[in-house]
Amino acid sequence: MSSSSIIMPGQMPVASPVAPGTNPDQSFFDDLNSEVGDKGFLVTSTEDLFNWARTGSLWWMTFGLACCAVEMIHVNMPRYDMERFGVAPRASPRQSDVMIVAGTLCNKMAPALRRVYDQMSNPKYVISMGSCANGGGYYHYSYSVVRGCDRIVPVDIYVPGCPPTAEALLYGVMQLQRKIRRTGTIER
Ligand code: SF4
Repeated sequence: MSSSSIIMPGQMPVASPVAPGTNPDQSFFDDLNSEVGDKGFLVTSTEDLFNWARTGSLWWMTFGLACCAVEMIHVNMPRYDMERFGVAPRASPRQSDVMIVAGTLCNKMAPALRRVYDQMSNPKYVISMGSCANGGGYYHYSYSVVRGCDRIVPVDIYVPGCPPTAEALLYGVMQLQRKIRRTGTIER
């Protein structure tokens, strides 16, 4: 958990996190644009190229378990339109490289979660969405609930809330992209 990024409630943007001029990675893209505009070509390392491809094509495995899944669906609808970041839902773990755990994970479902995670291709990432996935939430003391999906799979980003808003999840995805750019290597 120490190496994972946690979004604190105070960090969540009030409006859409992608409002004009508020993209935290804008300077990165500005630099790219000016270099291509100036020279007509781009020199980069293979590792940077891999990371660029990874962050621009995060295909997420839908793992909606409870109410949080509704907000996960919202983020892919036209208002938030997560696909403009290259982040698209997939129905098969074989085609997915990020899993969004959205909802209450119960003991019976835990082996299925782990199996789906194991079937995903490497490098793979996990976003834990909402209080239940983060630590059991309301059902923390229930006999049948896993107290955090990080007991079953390694989590990269925790999105707090019950449920987190669609904006918060979108912000979490953007944090994952930044984390991949910051820490990503060819071998994860
Ligand atoms: S965190 Fe709240 S909204 Fe999300 S699955 Fe748990 S009870 Fe439902």
